[in-house]
Amino acid sequence: MSAPLQDTLARPLRDLRISVTDRCNFRCPYCMPEEIFGEGFPFQRRGEILSFEEIVRLARILVGLGAGKLRITGGEPLLRAQLPRLVAKLAALPGVQDLALTTNGVLLPRFAGALAEAGLHRVTISLDSLDAATFRRMSGGRGEAGAVLDGIAAAESAGLSPIKINCVVQRGVNDDQVVALARRFRGTGHVLRLIEFMDVGTTNAWNLAEVAPAREILQRIEAEFPLEPVAPNYPGEVARRYLYRDGGGEIGIIASVSQPFCGDCSRARLSADGRLFTCLFAAEGRDLKTPLRAGASDSELREQIAGTWRRRRDRYSEERAARSPASPRKVEMFQIGG
Ligand code: SAM
Ligand code: SF4
Ligand code: SF4
Repeated sequence: MSAPLQDTLARPLRDLRISVTDRCNFRCPYCMPEEIFGEGFPFQRRGEILSFEEIVRLARILVGLGAGKLRITGGEPLLRAQLPRLVAKLAALPGVQDLALTTNGVLLPRFAGALAEAGLHRVTISLDSLDAATFRRMSGGRGEAGAVLDGIAAAESAGLSPIKINCVVQRGVNDDQVVALARRFRGTGHVLRLIEFMDVGTTNAWNLAEVAPAREILQRIEAEFPLEPVAPNYPGEVARRYLYRDGGGEIGIIASVSQPFCGDCSRARLSADGRLFTCLFAAEGRDLKTPLRAGASDSELREQIAGTWRRRRDRYSEERAARSPASPRKVEMFQIGG
């Protein structure tokens, strides 16, 4: 038996996020601003993205290396034709302990039943606001909060639970909505997770002033609903968990900016076009599609993937927090992180 795969910081590979498309029916300004991703933007063409068979082949290898937790994502994954077919293939892989999907939810009324039947375990649904105008703004004018709530109801009826509800909090945009969201999902069994606005990519005009730090978000919620912290469910869990003291259930905070958690990060990401990324903020991914399509054997692909993980030293969020005091961003970061 070979030694378990670890990177240079002794972090194992446990999770794999699989992006199945770079397309989306929303244009959330913090992710895909309309001005940049408008009509005519060259999204990946069909032949450029991995087929289901190619995804499953790579996933089988990655699961064999330790990534027993799979999450299908995008873009908007439900835009990928016949997604339940992929779900069924992934669910059947030996060693898969958890199979989840992250979606903006609007297509769930159409697909939740088929996804559950295909073997999907659970879904995470993004919902940034219950207020109609704020939601419209945060989806780039493409979505309605009511449609997402219908998606949540569809997931619930299909048994795709426990459901997580993701909300990216932007100061001055929707930070005044977090208490209403908490109130809406308390007592439902769904777990609301409030996420600090991150500087992912280069197009979302990220600005530290728009990050509502976890501490501030928690204070708002605690003022209405007292909370107590609870231990993580498993090593490397990104959300800090809290329980409502009155028994209203659980809520989570993902403080990637103010309290980074690179030390436990066990996630790899496969892009729709077959590049393997070992950090959300990495500039380059390892191209697996070229060797795959050139006829590489499973053991050659396994060696390339394992080698990439062994060399991994990513800890972007921790480095960002530790940037030199010469950087004006660092000073503010210390303020929010301290
Ligand atoms: N389209 C699906 C959705 O929105 O759920 C799946 C893909 S989306 C990229 C996955 C998650 O990333 C969503 O919950 C979204 O809110 C979050 N996200 C996107 N950009 C972000 C940013 N700049 N900071 C924090 N979270 C972000
Ligand atoms: Fe689309 Fe999700 Fe990005 Fe919003 S966050 S633009 S729904 S991929
Ligand atoms: Fe993991 Fe990179 Fe995020 Fe750190 S910055 S937690 S290494 S994805």
